[in-house]
Amino acid sequence: MNFISSWERVAEKTPNKNALEFEGRKISYREFLNMARTVGRRLEGFGVTKGDRVVLMLDNTPEFVIAYFGIILAQAVIVPVNPRYRQREVQVIIEDCQPKVLITTADNVTMIEAIQQQVNSIENIFITDSANIEGILNWEQLLKPVLGSGQNQVKDDDVIEFLYTSGTTGIPKGAMLSHTNLYSNAVEFARILEFSADERSLVLAPIYHSAAQTCVMNATLVSGGTLVLKDRWISAEDTLQAFQDKKITFFFGPPTMYAFILNHPELPKYDVSALRVAFTGAASLPEGVFNRFKEVFGFEIVEGYGLSEASPVVATNPFRGAKKLGSVGQAFPGVDIKIVDSDDNEVPTGTVGEITCHGPNVMQGYYQKPDETKQSLKDGWLHTGDMGYVDEDGYYYIVDRKKDMIIRGGLNIYPREVEEVLYSHPKVLEAAVIGVPHSDMGEVPKAVIVLKDSIKSSADDIRGYCREQLSSYKVPQFFEFVTELPKTSTGKILKRELRKQGKSSNSHS
Ligand code: AMP
Repeated sequence: MNFISSWERVAEKTPNKNALEFEGRKISYREFLNMARTVGRRLEGFGVTKGDRVVLMLDNTPEFVIAYFGIILAQAVIVPVNPRYRQREVQVIIEDCQPKVLITTADNVTMIEAIQQQVNSIENIFITDSANIEGILNWEQLLKPVLGSGQNQVKDDDVIEFLYTSGTTGIPKGAMLSHTNLYSNAVEFARILEFSADERSLVLAPIYHSAAQTCVMNATLVSGGTLVLKDRWISAEDTLQAFQDKKITFFFGPPTMYAFILNHPELPKYDVSALRVAFTGAASLPEGVFNRFKEVFGFEIVEGYGLSEASPVVATNPFRGAKKLGSVGQAFPGVDIKIVDSDDNEVPTGTVGEITCHGPNVMQGYYQKPDETKQSLKDGWLHTGDMGYVDEDGYYYIVDRKKDMIIRGGLNIYPREVEEVLYSHPKVLEAAVIGVPHSDMGEVPKAVIVLKDSIKSSADDIRGYCREQLSSYKVPQFFEFVTELPKTSTGKILKRELRKQGKSSNSHS
């Protein structure tokens, strides 16, 4: 069994059931499968063959879901990319994966064409809206019936997706995930959270990220349920309205989304009684959010832990059994977890070490990055870069990130990328970016900057410069100007030190 045979079975059993709902549009399982097959044939018709990369740069829309499975049917590799990325952010990924086709919306075409001038692997750009742009197929043209196989030829071991993540180093790397990696994680997730064909899951977290794909999109579709898509987060009010009007039964969001929902003054006004499961992950769930949720909704949020390289779920709290506050739960079914020291020896219960895991969900490696793959995958054990410990009952706790990644409201920011932009500013001598605690976002980036000799600059000047080159969520919220940065004897900036200082001085916001 794999994704395709699973959809085929659902489409046969309940052809008229809604697979996708979006802004008043309803797409049945039969239509969904037919459209995915057409996209698959189209891609084949445009010369896409097994293993070719197809970049998917879309918000949470039915077109993302249809194209995702169309790409699998064409035996190609899906490369999801944040549709709001700026040119330099997209270009590094495109240069690395050398895609043949790119599927996006009309507003991104100018940027993609500029990249195409430099990366000549891109043969075709397709758009999912109805705009007419010369040389580019729009969604209607893409879905015109075509001959071709469009059948399920994909093998369980085939790599079907590259999820780009910067991990420890800051250089984006494509985690290669096989059909089995992704399918097994989604099926287990659906099983332990008792998904059924009655599920109505809200897709609100960004669908280009692994958690929304596995825990919402794939878990719901393998169960024959309905995906209710919202292209992106707008407000707590809008989300509560969707809970009520669309009778949402399953919700996944990072802790910040729950914080916003629970802070909404008119929360009691909404009928949220259909909600059956609330799942969270991507960042640690604050105690206050856990307690308030239970008070309001009458049941507990389930917190899990994972990473793109593990498709993503590695551990979760039990759905029905006891949840431990502050813990990310127990090992996911089929996944083994070991906490190790820097020599890779397992540490005793209660001792902090690096979390490593092994199982059917663990990636095949990073695309064309043998050194990074060797560092992360040792004898099949994925080294997560997260530091944690396990208690006597087998519950895991994350204490710190070995990597310096900042998670702002569930979106990852890799400090090195922001630092590179800062370093390119003519007035900046040295810069370090750290995460500082923030009541709504969990954490936000802060830049600590040393300016070049006797040159003056302001937070506004540098912020404006960052805005031109980075998505807004990566732009530092705080700036601090210092005369020197704390460093180790080998010249490495001591970020831990900066974080300590950062807690007391979030100056120049
Ligand atoms: P990504 O690859 O984007 O899914 O990011 C994975 C990282 O998010 C992990 O390596 C952790 O650092 C962090 N993460 C995921 N879930 C949790 C959680 N429940 N608590 C704390 N950090 C988490």
